[in-house]
Amino acid sequence: MLDNKVKEQLRAYFTKLVNPVVLTASIDTSAKSQEMQALLKDIADLSDKISLLENGTNARTPSFTVNRPEGNCQITFAGLPMGHEFTSLILAILQTGGYPPKVEADVIEQIRQVEGSFNFETYISLSCQNCPEVVQALNLMAVLNPNISSTMIDGALFQDEVKERQIMAVPSIYLNDKEFGQGRMNVKEILGKIDTGSIKREAEKISAKAPFDVLVIGGGSAAATAAIYAARKGIRTGLVTENFGGQILNTTDIENIIAIKKIEGTHLAAIYEENIRSHAIDVMMPQRATKLIPGELIEVQLECGASVKSKTVILATGASWRKMGIPGEETYIGKGVAFCPHCDGPLYKGKDVAVIGGGNSAVEAAIDLSGIAKHVTVLIRSDKLTADSVLQEKMQSIANITLIKKAKTAEVVGDGQKVTALTYLDQIDNTQKTLTLSGIFVQIGQVPTTGWLKDSPVKLNAKQEIEVDASNCTSIPGVFAAGDASSSPYKQIVIAMGDGAKASLSAFDYLIRH
Ligand code: NDP
Repeated sequence: MLDNKVKEQLRAYFTKLVNPVVLTASIDTSAKSQEMQALLKDIADLSDKISLLENGTNARTPSFTVNRPEGNCQITFAGLPMGHEFTSLILAILQTGGYPPKVEADVIEQIRQVEGSFNFETYISLSCQNCPEVVQALNLMAVLNPNISSTMIDGALFQDEVKERQIMAVPSIYLNDKEFGQGRMNVKEILGKIDTGSIKREAEKISAKAPFDVLVIGGGSAAATAAIYAARKGIRTGLVTENFGGQILNTTDIENIIAIKKIEGTHLAAIYEENIRSHAIDVMMPQRATKLIPGELIEVQLECGASVKSKTVILATGASWRKMGIPGEETYIGKGVAFCPHCDGPLYKGKDVAVIGGGNSAVEAAIDLSGIAKHVTVLIRSDKLTADSVLQEKMQSIANITLIKKAKTAEVVGDGQKVTALTYLDQIDNTQKTLTLSGIFVQIGQVPTTGWLKDSPVKLNAKQEIEVDASNCTSIPGVFAAGDASSSPYKQIVIAMGDGAKASLSAFDYLIRH
C-alpha cells in the first residue's frame, strides 16, 4: 500500500512515539476494507509502539480508531485517510503516542479544561485542502480531552449519509448530531464556539498589547512578506489574520513562483507560517479586522471586540470569490452553490452541475468536474471564453461538457434544502430558460476584501480596491496596502509578495521620518 520511500519517512517519524498506540479496524470483505487493512498493517509494521486490532465494531465500515491502550482518546477515520488527509492520520498517531502538538500552551490548557460531551463528525473529501485543518484540530482536541471525540468521514465513500444529511460542501462539521459549521476552522475558532468565554478572554489579552510599530492585516502572500520584512528591520511587528496563506489555501499546484518549480498551495502556506513564526512577529489569529480609525496611533478594531494600536498599518486583506448576486445564491451556498471545485467536486459524483464563468478558473473547474459529474454545463454571459486557448481546446474535446453562450444567470432555485435548478436569460432569443441540476460552481473572479474599510477614510477605487501609489502608500499617512486588496495591477502571488515587501519598506521609511 505504502511505497518504500514513504515507509522510511514514517519509520523515522514514529521513533518520536513515546507511548503505545492502538489502531482498531472495523472492516468487512469489500475492496476498500482490504485497502484499509493493508494500509494499517503497513503502518503497524513500522513501529513496535503501534499495534493493530481487526475486531472493531464501528457501524461505519471500513473505519478505524486511533487510541491509547487505556482507550481514553476517541479518534476515528471512516474511509481511507489518503490524499490531503494522510497527514491527519500521521499526526493523530504521533499525538496519541505522546508527541507534543505545535500549539500554544494556553490553548492546550484550554482544551483540557473543556467540560461536557462533544462528539464531532467531520465530512470531508480527499481532494479538499481545507478539510485537514478541521480534522487535525478536532483530532488534537480528542487527544487532549477524553470528553471530546472526533470522526473524519469520507463523503465520497459514505454517500448514503451524505445524502441523508444533505451535505453538499466540505468540510461539514456536526457536533452531537447537529450542524456545527462548514468550511475551514482552526482549533481556536472551534474552541471559541464551544467555550464562548474564550473569545472575551482573547480580546482582553489583545487589547492589553502595547502599540506596534507596524501592524499587518492579512495572512496571505502580501501580508506574510510585509510582516517578515518589518520584523527583519527589528521593529515591533504585529499580524492580525484569520489564517496563514489566504487565497493560496484554495490553490492546488502553483507553478509560477519562479524560484520553485511546483508547489501545492497548502504546502506554501505551511512555509509562510513556519517563516512568520521564526521571526519576532506577534501573531493574532484567528482574528478579523472590522474597522480602521486613523490617528497619531492608528487603531484597528477586531470582530472579537479587541482594539490594537500601531504607528503604521499595512492592509493586505486579499480578495475573495466574486458572487453572482442573484436571488437564491446566498440561501444555497454550501447546499449546491459552491466556489471550490477541488473541495466540493467529489460530492457531485454522477450529478448534473453548472460552472459559471469563462476564464481560466471556470474552464479548469469544468475540466476537473467532467471526470466526476454526469454532465457539466458552462454558462458565460458574453459570446466568447477568455480562458487560455489550450484550456479551451481541452474543454471542447470533452463529451460531457456543454458551453452555453450569452447566458445571463437569473436565479438559483432550490427545494428549501438544496439546489434543484438554475434559471438564466438566453440573450440570443431573449427567453428565460431553466437548467435542472444539483450543483452550481461559481468561478467569476475575485473581489477585494475591503468591505470592512467602507466607513474609514481610506480611499477605495471603483473596483473597491484600496488606492495605492507606486510605494504602496494609501490616502492616509501611515497606512499602506499591498496585494489583491490594493489597486496594484495583475493579481499574482509574486506580485503580492513584491507589494508586501514594498509596503513594509515604505512603512519603515515613514517611521524613520516621523
Ligand atoms: P477572470 O477574471 O479571468 O474571468 C472571470 C470570468 O467570469 C469571465 O468569464 C467573466 O465574464 C465572468 N464574470 C465576471 N463577472 C461575472 C458575473 N457577475 N456574472 C457572470 N459571469 C461573470 O477570473 P478567473 O478567476 O478565471 O482568473 C483570475 C486570474 O487567475 C486570471 O488572471 C487567470 O488567468 C488566473 N488563473 C490562471 C490559471 C492558470 O494559469 N492555470 C488558473 C486559474 C486562474 P466576461 O468575460 O463576460 O467579463
